[in-house]
Amino acid sequence: MGESCIFCKIIRGEIPSATIYEDGDFKVILDINPAARGHALILTKEHYANLYELPEELAGKAMVLAAKLTAHMTEKLHCDGFNLVQNNGEIAGQTVFHFHLHLIPRYKDGDNRDLLTWNQITYEDGQVAALAEMLRL
Ligand code: AMP
Ligand code: ZN
Repeated sequence: MGESCIFCKIIRGEIPSATIYEDGDFKVILDINPAARGHALILTKEHYANLYELPEELAGKAMVLAAKLTAHMTEKLHCDGFNLVQNNGEIAGQTVFHFHLHLIPRYKDGDNRDLLTWNQITYEDGQVAALAEMLRL
């Protein structure tokens, strides 16, 4: 998979990227088709298809890095909020099957407010309690 994976190619430097951060575990690049100015992607250096495959230690480190970058980018971009988005599977909107975490700055002026909205569904009576019981970990 790594051979043809576009993010592996970016990690290997075979295709260019606008990199804003790099360490032993991650490379952070600007998204080529941003949802907003400054939209960035945290990529793992190793190829993991998605969150299901990501080792626990890297999952923790990715969130620590996301928090750090959210603060740093908010200061630099003067944005008014931030969304973190992480898609797993085609049905969930994943198009590149190499783990990445979207960092999306949000702006009060000129923002696309519908960027991450969805239609809400409702539960029937008792459904939510049964679901919570079934899902309790
Ligand atoms: P997802 O839909 O969650 O898999 O997100 C994939 C993201 O990768 C999209 O937002 C694309 O715009 C972005 N993307 C694809 N190719 C590149 C590239 N060569 N450099 C930067 N971002 C890219
Ligand atoms: Zn890859």
